[in-house]
This record gives sequence, C-alpha cells and structure tokens, in this order.
Amino acid sequence: MGFEIAAAFRRCGSAMLGLIVGASLLATDAASADRTPAKELFGAKALPAAMTPSAYGSYAKGCLAGGVAIPTDGETWQAMRLSRNRRWGHPQMVALIERFSRDAAERVGWPGLLLGDISQPRGGPMLSGHASHQIGLDADIWLTPMPQRTLSYQERESISATSMLQKNKFLTVDPSIWTPTHARLIMLAASYPQVERVFVNPAIKKKLCDTWRGDRSALGKVRPIYGHDYHFHIRIKCPDGSTGCKGQARVPRGDGCDKSLAWWFTDEPWAKPKKKPEKPVKPKFAMLSDLPKACALVLDGPAPASEQEATYGTAYRAAAVAPAPAAAPAAAVPAAATSIEAVIGAAAAAPLENIPVPLPRPALQ
Ligand SMILES: [Zn+2]
Repeated sequence: MGFEIAAAFRRCGSAMLGLIVGASLLATDAASADRTPAKELFGAKALPAAMTPSAYGSYAKGCLAGGVAIPTDGETWQAMRLSRNRRWGHPQMVALIERFSRDAAERVGWPGLLLGDISQPRGGPMLSGHASHQIGLDADIWLTPMPQRTLSYQERESISATSMLQKNKFLTVDPSIWTPTHARLIMLAASYPQVERVFVNPAIKKKLCDTWRGDRSALGKVRPIYGHDYHFHIRIKCPDGSTGCKGQARVPRGDGCDKSLAWWFTDEPWAKPKKKPEKPVKPKFAMLSDLPKACALVLDGPAPASEQEATYGTAYRAAAVAPAPAAAPAAAVPAAATSIEAVIGAAAAAPLENIPVPLPRPALQ
C-alpha cells in the first residue's frame, strides 16, 4: 500500500514536474514575447491567421485575423514591392481594391492600379514604413498609372512613383504631371460608401478644391496630410461584424476646402520644433501587450497551407469549377475565403467570370 502510494506520488510528481516545466516554458515564451517589440513578432509572420476575418484595434494599433492576399496581378492592377509581403488585407478591403481598379479602368480611363502596401499577413505594427495599415483596412495606391505590360519582380522593387508636386515650389501640384484623370481617380476612390478617408498631399487637396466641378459630397473624405504626393491612401470603415475594431469619427461635414486646408499653407505645419529635447528620447515600440488582447491569439493562430490558399479569388475559382454540394462542408474551404461573398454582399459581388484568379508571382529576373 505504502509502495503504491509512493509510486503514485512519483508518477504524480513527474506529471507535476512536467506541468511546472511546461508552464515555465510558456512563461519564458510569454516573457520573451513581452520583451520583443510587436513589430518584430508580426513582421516575422509570412502567412495570415486562418480565422474568421476580423480587424482588431485601431488603424495604428491593432491586428488582422483571416487576412487575404490580393493576387500580384489582375487585369486592372499590379502589386508593387512584392518582397515586403504587404498585400494582405481584410477581405472587404481586398474586394474594394479589386472593384475600384475595375471601375477606374471603365469609368475614369485609368489603365490600372499600381498597388503599394496594404497590411502584413496578420496586420500589426511594421518594421518599417507606416504607423497605420495595421488592421487590413488601409491601402496605398500609386499616383502613377499601370503600364500596359507586366512588370518584372525586379521592376516592382525598383521603379519609383512620380511625385505630383512641382519642384522648388511650395505645395503646388505640377501642371505638367497632374491630369483631370488623377482627380477623377481620387474622387472615385472617395465615392464608395465604405471608404471613410482618402489621404492626399495638401497640394492635391487644394487642386481638387479649386478644380472639381462634379459632385462634391465625397470631397470632404479627401484629407490633406504630409507626404502622399506619390501615392494616395484609402481607408475603409470597420467592417460589419468586426466588433473588436475601433473606428474613427466621421469626417466633418462639408468639402473640407476651408480653414482646415488653409492651415497647411501656413508656416505652422512645416516649422522645425522650437526646442530640441535635452536628452535623446528612447523610441518606445509597441509591445504585444499594448495591442488588443485578441492580437495574441491572432499571432498564434494557425496558418493556411499556402499563400495561394489565402489569396483572394481562390474560393470563387473553386466554386466555378465545381458546383457547391447541397450541404457544403464548412472545413473544405479556407475560413478566410468563405466569407468574402458574405462580407462584400451579393450586390457588390462581381460576376464569377470577372473575378481574377490568383497568379503566381512574376519570376525573379
Ligand atoms: Zn498609407
């Protein structure tokens, strides 16, 4: 009896030890995750979290579950800077870009979009570049039209966009580069109800204020900001069902061609800081614990089998090839892809044959 108890204690003891070791390993993991800036944790993820699509947190502090990649190439777009792996967005964002690119070609005469950054596969802070773009609801579009030919991988890394600003002149759009088509493109972007803000350089906003003769109801969504003379930035509102997504206040009423714009043409936004800080301030990086709690789950969430599986359009292509069975097995299709149709809604969904299928990345040349 005594022996049995002792043996049971030993078994139990080793199990306890296992638990303790396991727990301390977890604690070590957690501790190192606590010391590692969130941008390194999220920047290291090559694939999204295969979860129900949802944006968590705010545009500049959050993460993305169920991200989908926009294909590198579509008929009316080409993605740039592929090495950054920032072609990932909430399915609603990716659906909007696809639709916008088609509308721009058909209605504005813009031959195609060159796409800059959307988000990392799981969103989150980035190692370089942006403060926002963290929840898959922001996208940068170049102000340079897409060329007729397919750009090589190297070209997509090295080609520069063109600034719309006149050199050696204060905040002035260059009339030899800017065209009414640029204006129509930006106003088209602002016209979608899900788009809440379009960020442009103050000179571009002023140009629109001075020259736009069409409907001005969406002009207020076009917001002046530093930079943004090579590209513009589209921000959509929190998608329905993303309960953990923190949106922004609506833009003020009116076209924004007012004193809020005039301020950009004063010295104040461009003045150097008056006093230098006495001690150099250590940059403080956001840690995982600074982000919404759900972001720890997003970081640890399962990845899809491949990038292809989580690329926008995959599910549509599968549906076109084989009719859906009466009771579709939910697990057969990646979670991120199944809900695309649901999230963009039947009215907004394009006919099947127009949905671009994912293409392989252009070969390294
Ligand atoms: Zn941006």
